[in-house]
Amino acid sequence: MAAPDVRAFRASVLHFRDDPGVASPADSFEYLEDGLLVVEDGRVARLGPAEPLLASLPRDTNVVDRRPALILPGFVDAHIHYAQTDVIASPGRNLLHWLEQYTFPEEARFAQRAHAEEVAEFFLDELLRHGTTTAMVFGTVHRASADAFFAAAERRKMRMAAGQVMMDRHCPEHLRDTPESVRRDVRELIERWDGQGRLHYAITPRFAVTSSEAQLRLAGELALAYPNVFVHSHLAEHLDEVAWVRRLFPSCRSYLDVYDHFGLLRERAIYAHCLHLDAADRKRMAESGAAAAFCPTSNLFLGSGLFDIAAADAAGMPFAIATDVGGGTSFSMLRTLAEAYKVAQLQGQHLSALRGFYLATLGGARALHLDRRIGSFLPGREADFVVLDPQAIPLLARRTRAAKTLEELLFAWMILGDERGVRECYVLGQPASTSAIAASRSG
Ligand SMILES: [Zn+2]
Repeated sequence: MAAPDVRAFRASVLHFRDDPGVASPADSFEYLEDGLLVVEDGRVARLGPAEPLLASLPRDTNVVDRRPALILPGFVDAHIHYAQTDVIASPGRNLLHWLEQYTFPEEARFAQRAHAEEVAEFFLDELLRHGTTTAMVFGTVHRASADAFFAAAERRKMRMAAGQVMMDRHCPEHLRDTPESVRRDVRELIERWDGQGRLHYAITPRFAVTSSEAQLRLAGELALAYPNVFVHSHLAEHLDEVAWVRRLFPSCRSYLDVYDHFGLLRERAIYAHCLHLDAADRKRMAESGAAAAFCPTSNLFLGSGLFDIAAADAAGMPFAIATDVGGGTSFSMLRTLAEAYKVAQLQGQHLSALRGFYLATLGGARALHLDRRIGSFLPGREADFVVLDPQAIPLLARRTRAAKTLEELLFAWMILGDERGVRECYVLGQPASTSAIAASRSG
């Protein structure tokens, strides 16, 4: 039997055990200013103060010294569209205009497998370059979009969830599927990819506007038949969209009620945005076990609205943080946290940096019901992590030197940090896509 591959990483180390916005902050995280993360065969073996832990390890242990960097679990992006990589920063006037002018034409290109493969490779490297190791990902209506994405994620050994989009109305004719094609493709994709390596399938109706009642019913049947796969869609993003859904489904109490009616509210269901909900909707989301993805850069960019953290908390509605590229304006979860902070401020609310970093790591893993595998450094967790180096950003290095508390330190990262500060990203304890990171540094 081969000897285990043991590596130890020395740096400041932070991870979360609970939500600092709900649980007592002191019990919710573990921070070691001079810590040692010991990884064995791709999983977390131990975490503790560096000096005593080093003394207990064999002398020849491979120790990677990254002081004064900060090691965190890899970021979890709870909602992103890989097929919109090339429409980021497109001047759409609002959601519906942006979809018609930019997004649908670009998504049509994913009928070609070669295009899907090329974008998937770039997209996954881009995630890793930004410190994101897990994401909940939209494909397009084409089978090739999902196959190409899963194959690229499998090569990188990343824990990823994705799905082929379902839509059969209110979109260009050539982007519509049929009940027969959906039944065949979704079943085959689940059998081929769900549970293969670290991959998960997500049943992905685009949103209530682009699915007929028959299609939503079919999505609900699939969600019932495959309780362990995810459900992934959009909900209550823009007021025009909410009004349209009301006209399309007059018998439903609310937009959320449409998904509920068709059996699409359950654990492992992720709904992006959730901006224009009422108290009854939020209560129902909380009861169902579904979670919201808060996408601040997208909501601000498209002028869609402000996610109400206080209302979500009051209802016990779980939520995570997401970039929503290409409606979102950055792959960086750090930049996304800065915008989340400002969205809260505009409503007289406060998002602490501790909670922000929880949401970007364990909070995302919990929303996806993956927290037994990723999102923290508890023993046995998969060793996906990011090494943040303040020296890479001169202003951040200067500001963090003056930080007196952990909250101040993290707050500076939340407001001033970005992908320049991502020194390395590890997947299962191995350096991930360092070529992409190095290339971005040298040119
Ligand atoms: Zn989206």
